[in-house]
Amino acid sequence: MERRKFIRNIGATAVGFSFLHSAMAGQLAASAGAAGRVVVVGGGMGGTTVAKYLRLWGGTGMDVTLVEPNAAYISNIFSNMVLTGERTLSQLSFNYSNLKSKYGVKVQNYSVTSIDPISKQLKLSSGSTLAYDRLVLAPGIDFESLPSFTGSTANKAKIVHAWKAGTQTTSLQNQIKAMTRSDTFILTIPPTPYRCPPGPYERACVVADHLKRTKGGGKVIILDANPKIQAEPINFTNAFNNTHRGVITYVPNANINSINADTMTVVTSAGTFKGKVINAIPVHKAGNLITQSGIGLNNSADGKWATVNVLSYESTNPALAGIHIIGDSSSTTQPKAGHIANSEAKVCADAIIQIFKGGTIFQVPITNSSCFTPITKTTASWLSAVYRYDPATKSMQPTGSGITESNGANSENVEDMHKWFKNLMADTFS
Ligand SMILES: Cc1cc2nc3c(=O)[nH]c(=O)nc-3n(C[C@H](O)[C@H](O)[C@H](O)COP(=O)(O)OP(=O)(O)OC[C@H]3O[C@@H](n4cnc5c(N)ncnc54)[C@H](O)[C@@H]3O)c2cc1C
Repeated sequence: MERRKFIRNIGATAVGFSFLHSAMAGQLAASAGAAGRVVVVGGGMGGTTVAKYLRLWGGTGMDVTLVEPNAAYISNIFSNMVLTGERTLSQLSFNYSNLKSKYGVKVQNYSVTSIDPISKQLKLSSGSTLAYDRLVLAPGIDFESLPSFTGSTANKAKIVHAWKAGTQTTSLQNQIKAMTRSDTFILTIPPTPYRCPPGPYERACVVADHLKRTKGGGKVIILDANPKIQAEPINFTNAFNNTHRGVITYVPNANINSINADTMTVVTSAGTFKGKVINAIPVHKAGNLITQSGIGLNNSADGKWATVNVLSYESTNPALAGIHIIGDSSSTTQPKAGHIANSEAKVCADAIIQIFKGGTIFQVPITNSSCFTPITKTTASWLSAVYRYDPATKSMQPTGSGITESNGANSENVEDMHKWFKNLMADTFS
C-alpha cells in the first residue's frame, strides 16, 4: 500500500524520472536539430542534468560546455550516512566522463569568476573567456557568516556545517566518532529557505541512532530557528518523541545569537546550550557567483536568490536576458533539493532547445521531488510532491494532495531509498 502510494504520488515508474519525458514526449523528437552555444556553470545536480539533456534532446547542433572547478562531484544526498560510517565519500563521488564521452559535452575544470551579460561572455579562473548564446547557472548555495562566532582559530575550525559534502563531512564524522555516551551533539538549523528541508532532522535521527548503537547513548539537541519542523512533521515528531525518545531534544524558535567555540556554547533566543560537538548550519544564500557578481542576479525579495520564470528558468530581470538559473540558487515555490534540481534542469533544457528552434516553450511543465529519510540504520521514511505550472500565479504549485509523507518508517523504504538514489544519480551523471 505504502509503495503504491509513493509511486502514485510521483506519478510514474519506480522513481519518476520518466515522468517529465512522458509529459513532454511530443516535443522531444521534434526538438533535435536546434543549434546554439550554451555554457552551464556548476556540475552538481542541476548543472550536470541540464548539460546532458541539452545534448540528448537538442542533438549535435547544441554546443554545450560545462564549467565546474572539481574533477568529481560529491553528492550531499546520503552524506548524513557518511557521518555514521554507513557510506564513504568515494561511494558518493561522480565524475563527468559520461557527460563527455556519451553526450559530447565539453567540460572545463575551472571556476567562473565573472559574467558580462551584455557581451555574453564569462571569465574563468584560468583567465580565459567563454562566449555563450544562452547561459545556465547552477552554482548551488553559499552561507552567511555565523553571528558573533568567537574562540581560538583552532576551536572555531571544529565547528562545521558539513552541508556541502567534502572535508567538513569527514571532520564531523571524526568528531562524532570521538563522542562518548555522556556527550551532547548540537545541531543548529537556519531559517528557511535552506537546502533539503528534511535533511537536518534526518541528520539528528541518524546521529541519535548511531550514538545509541555504538556508544550506548548520548544526547542530540536540535536548535531550530524555525517555529516548527519544516518537512515530514508527522514522521519526525514520531521519531523525536518515540524512536529516539530520551536522546533527541527538539527546540523550535531557537535563533542563534552567538557561538563560543572555546566554551562550546550556543546562545539562542530559546536559551543557552553546551555541547561536545556543535554542528552549526549557517543561513543560506545563492552560490557566491550570483550574490557577488554585482550584475543583479540576486533579485529575490531578500536579495539572496535569483528570481526566475519557471517556464524556462530564465531570469525575470530583462537586463539578464539569456541567463537561466536552476537548482538551489533560484527562488521558486519548489524545495531546494537535488531531485527537484534534476527536474528543473529538464524543463530548462527543453525551453532552451525550443528557443533555439524558434518553437514554443512548453506551457504546462511538471516537476517532482522525493526525499527518503533514514530514521534508524534499518528504517526510512519519505516525502514526495508533484508540482505543476499554475498560470494564475505563474508559479509551480503542488498537485493532488500536495506534499505527502510516508505512513511511518520501515525497512521496505530503505530498499526503495537505495534504488531511488541509484536512479537519480544515473539520470544525472550516466
Ligand atoms: C545532508 C544533505 C542531504 C541531502 N539529501 C537530499 C535528498 O535526500 N534528496 C534531495 O533531493 N536533495 C537532498 N539534498 C539537497 C541537494 O544536495 C541539493 O539541493 C542539490 O545538490 C542542489 O543542486 P544544485 O545543482 O543547485 O547545486 P549543487 O549540487 O550543490 O552543485 C553546485 C555546483 O556548482 C559548482 N560551482 C559553484 N560555484 C561555481 C563557480 N563560480 N564556477 C563553476 N562552478 C561553480 C560547485 O562546485 C558544485 O559542483 C541534501 C543536501 C544535504 C546537505
